[in-house]
Amino acid sequence: MLAAPAPAVAAPKAKKVDCSQVKCVALTFDDGPGKYAGTLLDTLKKYDAKATFFLQGQYVKSRPSYVKRMVKEGHAIGNHGYSHPDFTKSSEATIRSEIKKTNDEIKKAAGVEPKLLRPPYGLSDLTVQDIAAEFGMPIILWTGGSRDWESRNEEKIKKQTLSVAKGNSIVLMHDWVKQTVDSMPSIIKTLQRSGYHLVTVDDVIKGEDLKAGDVFPLPEGWEQ
Ligand SMILES: [Zn+2]
Repeated sequence: MLAAPAPAVAAPKAKKVDCSQVKCVALTFDDGPGKYAGTLLDTLKKYDAKATFFLQGQYVKSRPSYVKRMVKEGHAIGNHGYSHPDFTKSSEATIRSEIKKTNDEIKKAAGVEPKLLRPPYGLSDLTVQDIAAEFGMPIILWTGGSRDWESRNEEKIKKQTLSVAKGNSIVLMHDWVKQTVDSMPSIIKTLQRSGYHLVTVDDVIKGEDLKAGDVFPLPEGWEQ
């Protein structure tokens, strides 16, 4: 059989996944880029999976090439503060500078401006929401956690992640935990075999109509 002729123009970009029609999971990695980010990016590429990285500005500054690669390979980037203080115990000036310095480093490293904020420890209050609104960012938390920082055990991370990975879930993980990165091929294969598409947070929140300063998902007992 003859080989197909090479296309005259670049192939169209892969069709966007519609998470209102198919099962989606958004894996999110906090605090990076961590030292295992390169291995994680290799795995995501191999399985054609997308993820969202909530980055600390201090590590964007020290590992800019990972950030560039994340953007180039279709992952989403969010802001996780510059040096990870609890924003609910920080002054307004500190919160603003933590967000701004991180945005600036990301812009410098990869040429993009993050549109999502995940405050350190997922902690926010009305002041943090107001400042997020000033920056035009909704606050993105998670629907379930891998508890990877706690267990540091591949089997436990896999089991916990699969137990919280449901339709349109947002799962918290960390790319500085080696066992998380090591367990990713197995986690991704299992999710994909169960029919999940691994997408960015933007895909999962598309139907939510979030405004700058909104928190999603809302912690129990909160009102928007
Ligand atoms: Zn964090």
